[in-house]
Amino acid sequence: MDYEPVIGLEVHAQLKTRSKIFSPAPTEFGAPPNSQVNPICLGMPGVLPVLNGKALEYAVKAALAVNCEIHGRSRFARKNYFYPDLPKGYQISQYEEPFSTGGWLDIGANGAVKKIRITRIHMEEDAGKLVHENMGRSSFVDLNRAGVPLIEIVSEPDIASAEEAVLYLKKLRSILMYIGVCDGNMEEGSLRCDANVSVRPRGSKTLGTKVEIKNVNSFKFVQKAIEYEVKRQVSVIEGGGKVVQETRLYDADKGVTFSMRSKEEAHDYRYFPDPDLLPVVIEREKIEELRASLPELPDQRLMRFTQVYKLPEYDASVLTASKVIADYFEECLKYYDNPKNISNWIMTEVMREMKDEGESGEMPVSPRSLSGLLLLIDDGTISGKIAKDVFQEMVSTGKTAKEIVEGSGIKQISDRGELENIISGILKDHPAEISRYKAGDEKLIGFFVGKVMKATQGKANPKVVNEILTAELAK
Ligand code: ADP
Ligand code: MG
Repeated sequence: MDYEPVIGLEVHAQLKTRSKIFSPAPTEFGAPPNSQVNPICLGMPGVLPVLNGKALEYAVKAALAVNCEIHGRSRFARKNYFYPDLPKGYQISQYEEPFSTGGWLDIGANGAVKKIRITRIHMEEDAGKLVHENMGRSSFVDLNRAGVPLIEIVSEPDIASAEEAVLYLKKLRSILMYIGVCDGNMEEGSLRCDANVSVRPRGSKTLGTKVEIKNVNSFKFVQKAIEYEVKRQVSVIEGGGKVVQETRLYDADKGVTFSMRSKEEAHDYRYFPDPDLLPVVIEREKIEELRASLPELPDQRLMRFTQVYKLPEYDASVLTASKVIADYFEECLKYYDNPKNISNWIMTEVMREMKDEGESGEMPVSPRSLSGLLLLIDDGTISGKIAKDVFQEMVSTGKTAKEIVEGSGIKQISDRGELENIISGILKDHPAEISRYKAGDEKLIGFFVGKVMKATQGKANPKVVNEILTAELAK
């Protein structure tokens, strides 16, 4: 029997506000434990939460960017459970009345566009964190994250493979970063993902029993955890068993998922509307104002790059996946007007040099520097091959291409007279190869070019060398 995976993702994204969702405590990452808390985060008796207006704006922008409907009225609810990282004894979230439902985003899967529907987006606060590492037999509580604003984006079970799950997550992250509401940093926990996975006989319309894999926090682990889980479920079914509904965790070292709690042990959260918070009312005008403030999104930009710059779709999709790279590309165009050349260089040399795959958003050389290098290739000062070495030196020294070329004698030799001298010397030394060439073995041109390059330490202008050689050998 052939089985198909069915996957729905629940993604938590941290909103990039300076203060927390219901208190003025700061949200900066990496501060000393418990230095970013106040009585509201600590859940002290008598305190009252107040919704952060910026967090609400960011949440609405995110929802609009993924085509969701925004509800003029929504409500916060208390999700009750006990855990040491949650001093209030409940998390403030939205439950029956989220601020947003019914959106979608497009992913490019197998050369086609696939729509992944979004069920809902709601706002909630993050919990604190238990610290066990290097703490001997004790655990410590760090409440810096308590009250950090999050949105939870819940997809419909429209995702049909681990690859699609990663594409969805990448697209979502890209959109949130484009609109500037989330920094997308998965290592710091700004974007976290729970993957719901089931399998069913291919073509079946009913859903199988799902397993929820909690907190898979890198693209690679999302891919691996889902692949493992799909295989596991298929083998359970083929072995005559039944998949049990449960929450599992992914062990990245072993590459397996393992049970965390079964359905029976599932929490009863006893949700109820939070009496400390008023219903959230958002006016239509405000929603339209936020809609109008959205920047060009990745899909639109991709389209524009193919139409305006005539880039192949592949190039456009690589460049526009990250706003930083797309901005960089367009900045280069101000100094150098061959889009495809710039694209080639960004997709190879530049992206290879981007630290941590561009997470930090830092580019290895400035747009003006890269353009300066490309101009030196075009005017024949250096060859494309040498340019790669020059680029490396630009990255490590911060010098411009011009400075490096002038200071190092790696200028390309394009002078005809000089090359003719070198070539005539080489031809004199290889009469046998000349006869074979004249007898029809034209591939030998490569042999001669190689000799010239060796004699010039790779600096000869290949175009001029070819011209001279062809002319000389025809004599
Ligand atoms: P729960 O009540 O357990 O939270 P929900 O219906 O709220 O379940 O769905 C949570 C997530 O699980 C959603 O992303 C949804 O698309 C996904 N999901 C629901 N049923 C399935 C299923 N049978 N297989 C895979 N994913 C599913
Ligand atoms: Mg749910």
